Amino acid sequence: MTVLPSPALADVDDVALGARLLAGIPTNEARGPELLGVLSDRAQRFGRSLADADADEPAAHRVVERTGGLDRDVPTLARFSHRSGTVELFTDSIAFCEDLVDRMGWRPLFPAGSVRAAALLHEDAHHLLAGRYARDLRVAVGHPALRLGRLVRWAHVAGAEELAAHAYAARRLGLGRSPLLVTAAASAALDRPAAVATAPAKEARTWAS
Ligand SMILES: [Zn+2]
Repeated sequence: MTVLPSPALADVDDVALGARLLAGIPTNEARGPELLGVLSDRAQRFGRSLADADADEPAAHRVVERTGGLDRDVPTLARFSHRSGTVELFTDSIAFCEDLVDRMGWRPLFPAGSVRAAALLHEDAHHLLAGRYARDLRVAVGHPALRLGRLVRWAHVAGAEELAAHAYAARRLGLGRSPLLVTAAASAALDRPAAVATAPAKEARTWAS
């Protein structure tokens, strides 16, 4: 464990944390802070609405626990393989984040065990968002790529699915804050970037991300 991030990180709300995440993704650099805030808010609202839709309960995936999440180029809590339908859960990263929650004094925000539970739900959300809800997310985020009269083609906003997946997990667990706060703190503590699923097609991962 390196130096702890400032506790003031918790004062940055989820929309602003999400905007920071989006700003760090290459295809978003031309989008200004105000637009990124709007996109962040919409993506997280969509994640919560997906969680509220009871009928959309995702299927349970096979979970494989392993270590080595902190040793990867980009620290990873979990990742989902669409090909095998398996969620890999990196227990070293989970333990690191749980410890970090204690050290930051954030246990009231993230009860014991919630990091693991959130990582699993996050991957479930990626599964939904890469499949039948991919278009719905694009429409909900609502950033037009092309407008021809009444025809609108909605852009893929890289990172939107990541924010939606975090929001989905938070809602399902009844957390007051997005796990985005934990991943932001972990990235700062490790002085490394958070993993972001920028290519929803093959593999999604959450810092979990
Ligand atoms: Zn993710």
